[in-house]
Amino acid sequence: MSEVPRFWREAKHRYRLVGTRCENCNTLYFPPRDICPKCRRESVGKMREEELSGEGEIYSFTIVHDGLEQFKLQVPYVMALIKTKEGPLVTGQIVDCDPSEIKIGMNVRSVLRKVRTEGKSGILQYGYKFELK
Ligand SMILES: [Zn+2]
Repeated sequence: MSEVPRFWREAKHRYRLVGTRCENCNTLYFPPRDICPKCRRESVGKMREEELSGEGEIYSFTIVHDGLEQFKLQVPYVMALIKTKEGPLVTGQIVDCDPSEIKIGMNVRSVLRKVRTEGKSGILQYGYKFELK
C-alpha cells in the first residue's frame, strides 16, 4: 500500500466516526476491528465499514483539571464516554460547555475540532469531539 491511501485511511478514522460491522452477527464495533471477537474465523471478509451518526448521550464523564501538554489551555475540560445511537461507546472530549453543568444522559453530537498544533511546522491536527445538542 502506498503512503497516500494509508494517510487518507487513517485520516478518515480520525475525522469521522467510522466503525466496522460484522455481517455475520450484525454487531457494530468502534474503534473498527478487523475480526469480530464473537465470530472470529466466521467474520473474516465480512467486516464492513460503517459511519456512526455521531449522536448519542453521555454515559459517564470525568472533569479533568490537570491537562496533558496539548490541552493545557483548556483546563478544566470534560472527557466523556458517549453511548452512541448505534450502540458502541466512544470516548471524547465535550467542548463548549460549562463542566459543572454536565450530567449523565445529556444528548451530544460529534463535531470536528482542532486537537493540537504539530510542533514547529504548525500543522493543525483535527479530530472528533462532542458538543451538547
Ligand atoms: Zn460477528
